[in-house]
Amino acid sequence: MEALGTDTKHGRCCVCMVKNKICTRKCEFAAYFPNEMQGDYEAGTKLFGTPNIIRMMKLAPHEQKHLLASSILKEGAAWIRGGYGVI
Ligand SMILES: [Zn+2]
Repeated sequence: MEALGTDTKHGRCCVCMVKNKICTRKCEFAAYFPNEMQGDYEAGTKLFGTPNIIRMMKLAPHEQKHLLASSILKEGAAWIRGGYGVI
């Protein structure tokens, strides 16, 4: 699993997949929303919407991006597991 050279065949990150963009190694979202998180991310977009997620990620200070991304994914995961409307 080396990340050298072109890695477009590795799979796009969730944001690029949703936006149908090519995900480059420089993609600012790839580290936070990797391909394998797609299910949680899609649930997250239903909760927050992709534009809001992108805006939140752009506004968040660098050291908080991981925290923000993981809470978006966790909220999404909780939502698809039936947590919707239940506290
Ligand atoms: Zn990407």
